[in-house]
Amino acid sequence: MEIKVFNNLTRQKEIFKPIDPNIVLFYSCGPTTYNFLHVGNARALVVADLFHRTLKSLGLNVKFVRNYTDVDDKILEAAKQRGIHPKVHADEFIRECAIDMECLGMLPATVTPTVSESMPEIISMIEELIKNGYAYVVNGEVYYDVPKFKEYGKLSKVVLESLQHGIRVDVDGQKKNPSDFVLWKPAKPEEGWSWDSPWGKGRPGWHIECSAMARKHLGKTIDLHHGGVDLIFPHHENEIAQSEAANGCPFCHNWAHNEFLNFGSEKMSKSLGNVVTIRAFTESFSGAILRHILLAVHYRSKLDWTEDSISKAIGEIARIHDCALLVANAIPKDIDDHTEVESVKNSFKVMQEELANDFNVPAAMGTFFGVIKDFNRRVTGDISKSYIDEVKKCFNFMRDATGLVHDHADTILVELNVARKHLSGTSSDNDEEVLLLLEERKVVRATKNYKRSDEIRNRLNELGVVVKDNPDATATWSYK
Ligand code: AMP
Ligand code: ZN
Repeated sequence: MEIKVFNNLTRQKEIFKPIDPNIVLFYSCGPTTYNFLHVGNARALVVADLFHRTLKSLGLNVKFVRNYTDVDDKILEAAKQRGIHPKVHADEFIRECAIDMECLGMLPATVTPTVSESMPEIISMIEELIKNGYAYVVNGEVYYDVPKFKEYGKLSKVVLESLQHGIRVDVDGQKKNPSDFVLWKPAKPEEGWSWDSPWGKGRPGWHIECSAMARKHLGKTIDLHHGGVDLIFPHHENEIAQSEAANGCPFCHNWAHNEFLNFGSEKMSKSLGNVVTIRAFTESFSGAILRHILLAVHYRSKLDWTEDSISKAIGEIARIHDCALLVANAIPKDIDDHTEVESVKNSFKVMQEELANDFNVPAAMGTFFGVIKDFNRRVTGDISKSYIDEVKKCFNFMRDATGLVHDHADTILVELNVARKHLSGTSSDNDEEVLLLLEERKVVRATKNYKRSDEIRNRLNELGVVVKDNPDATATWSYK
């Protein structure tokens, strides 16, 4: 199937052709691990996961590298405040970040390198840049000599001349040109984490890490590179300048960027103080709800964070998973409904085409909801096995390609009930116990332990929860 991806280098949608047709080489700029991530960071993570999943579901192998920036001023500062080693601080938040990613239903990346473990590759790339005449050393600092790279600006379309006038001259006057950026900086004694290098003890500037990690794990030229739009300039422009000057060949064929998640009219950011962390949100609601909100809008459109988006997501997830339960329990009849079967087959193809068209989740979801609507209408009458199987194929495709359909529909529906209570401000301290009891009840009923099942029902009753057993062996519940 032809896959098209919007390429920010050319500012147009292009046919996506990996250099090696057998494997897509994909790099996404990952988070800086100095604190809990916010839901804006989650948008970037989930969009990279969408690319990974969709490309795989459309039949491509993907080598997906997403880094952790574990060497950074904010990490050094936070560790100093806590009186611990920066690595201990950064590793702690790598673990927290991994917990958030699992909660968001993300597939593991192929490799998740850190800056601290990539120091030999970073240092040798800087050495190559100096040797090739693109970088220079001043008092233990190494700078990239931007005007030497003639194609500077080709991604962000910044014009170097205006940049030269626009940037204030470096305070200590070490740079040759105002647009030059740092590749290596000397360690300050109080920072507590540094590496030996040909230019003395120090640590890398931010941009060089991604050029070095991409080359180490994917090679000199890659197929797809992703990050949020804020990274286009200077980060990605500088990655291109570094990689192409060191490697002497194109760095990346396709550059894809997700738009921002905004809070009201402002972008969500720590410095503005309007931050909702992934952890806080998923503890009150769920990872599935956050993922749904983040993918409900095309990745190249701005997304506004509102309470409406939460209730809309809850409604849509309920619609999908109520139907998933019906599909799982549907009893086929020996009838000929090939017109309807053909119609679902066609919807399946359309959903594939929509996702292959620059990862258009909203369009594919629209088609999928059409399949759901038809199934809900038809399930009250007679349906064939082929029809049920085709509908199942649609569910499985959307599960694998977008992560918006989940196995264990009943658990997802339970989470939605709790989320609704949080949204209406009536959540209680008992929610966790209720969820555990409902899970246990499913198991004891399946094993016909009716004594325990009755005890659980009584306890749920005390907690104000009514459970209704459905004829198809599922159960629905609500607070009284
Ligand atoms: P950082 O840890 O700040 O380097 O950000 C990690 C990733 O999250 C980058 O790809 C950023 O572009 C992205 N990002 C940060 N804030 C937002 C936001 N409010 N909306 C969307 N993406 C964001
Ligand atoms: Zn990067």
